[in-house]
Amino acid sequence: MNRRDFIWTLPGIGASVWLTGCATDPVTGKQSFVMMGKEQEVAVDKQHSPHQYSEDYGVSQDAALNRYMDGIGDRMASRSHRPDMPYRFQVVNANYVNAYAFPGGSIAATRGILLEMESEDELAALTGHELGHVNARHFAERQAKGTLVEIVAATATIAASSKYPQYGELAQLVGSLGGGALLSHYSRENEREADALGMEYMNKAGYSPQGMADLMDMLNSQSREKPNALELMFATHPMSSERLATTRQSLQTTYKDSAKKPLQRERYMDNTARLRAIKPAILAEQKGESLLGQKKFNEAEDQLDKALSLAPDDYPGLVLMAKTQMAMKKPREAQPYLARAKAIYPTEAQASQLTGVTHLQLKQPDRALAAFQDYDRLLPGNPNTTFLMGFSLEQMGQKQAAAQQYANYLRLSNQGNQAQHAFNRLKGWGYVK
Ligand SMILES: [Zn+2]
Repeated sequence: MNRRDFIWTLPGIGASVWLTGCATDPVTGKQSFVMMGKEQEVAVDKQHSPHQYSEDYGVSQDAALNRYMDGIGDRMASRSHRPDMPYRFQVVNANYVNAYAFPGGSIAATRGILLEMESEDELAALTGHELGHVNARHFAERQAKGTLVEIVAATATIAASSKYPQYGELAQLVGSLGGGALLSHYSRENEREADALGMEYMNKAGYSPQGMADLMDMLNSQSREKPNALELMFATHPMSSERLATTRQSLQTTYKDSAKKPLQRERYMDNTARLRAIKPAILAEQKGESLLGQKKFNEAEDQLDKALSLAPDDYPGLVLMAKTQMAMKKPREAQPYLARAKAIYPTEAQASQLTGVTHLQLKQPDRALAAFQDYDRLLPGNPNTTFLMGFSLEQMGQKQAAAQQYANYLRLSNQGNQAQHAFNRLKGWGYVK
């Protein structure tokens, strides 16, 4: 374990080690006391963004769509306050409506939000807003105020509620470090600043700042129609009537002239045509996810059946169907969906972890271990995988190897029922006095 991992596991110590003294705020030019340097921002990004992307069913396999998004982002990034950051703009396969930025410049929008926008200017507004968070260094600012502790706590408390993990409950551990736990939650102040920077960047890049007001209007109407799909977006980027009013105000003042520029609708529709072709499937998956969350498994299954009949090779659709089967305690039925998902998107890790859990549910720990090792190769650094490998080895009767994994796990997480289970085993086996 390197020092950075160690820092992340110990709230309270992190802040003092990360203290790097004064730095210049790239946006205001003022000296400010920030906790993280650029190198650390990039390191945190590299450590966390792959896990969030996997939770969101991976980066879209549509290379042209990613190039389109990256092109729009680059046009603005080169005119931003921090043009030297290693930006990467991508679409992730999640169905819900969201976008986010990691501090090193990894910026993503979900396919769920891409489906709802109607012009390139709206996408530029969305991307510009996220760029605003990176440029104003809001992540570092939030870390300084204790978000670091929140992330660690969220990671540690996802364990199942019983004395030790039951096979059914293992399903809850899968694929995630806690929904959205890795995402920054911004303040209203941060949001106001990101909106203003977003408009500045999009204007410099030649877009119509009107796209920002259109984007906010769309988000407001979507949140009325399907609040579930926007929950995380509004939890991380608090929306307010004041944000929209401020945006409208600057359209009438600062951006009076450029706001009249025609919106790039056709180009947006052309570039998102392949995505919009499967819109009915994506909407059915959104419904399925919401039903799954309400534990209405049969109704969720119906929606996912519908989605898969419309888009049979859709990775998120297949994985969601497998999750539904697993929630109904039908691991054997889940497996063909996972096998198909893996075949369609071999470099995406989530299906491997779920496969491992189905094998645990079927009391096949050796096959479970192989699947978790596969996951760990594709996406290293998930503490849950370390625990699950230990758990598989324990079921296989390989105490020493299991103890090694449990000890590794306890270095990553020292709270919750998984940690308790790991500790009890180490004690019971005589590794801990
Ligand atoms: Zn925001």
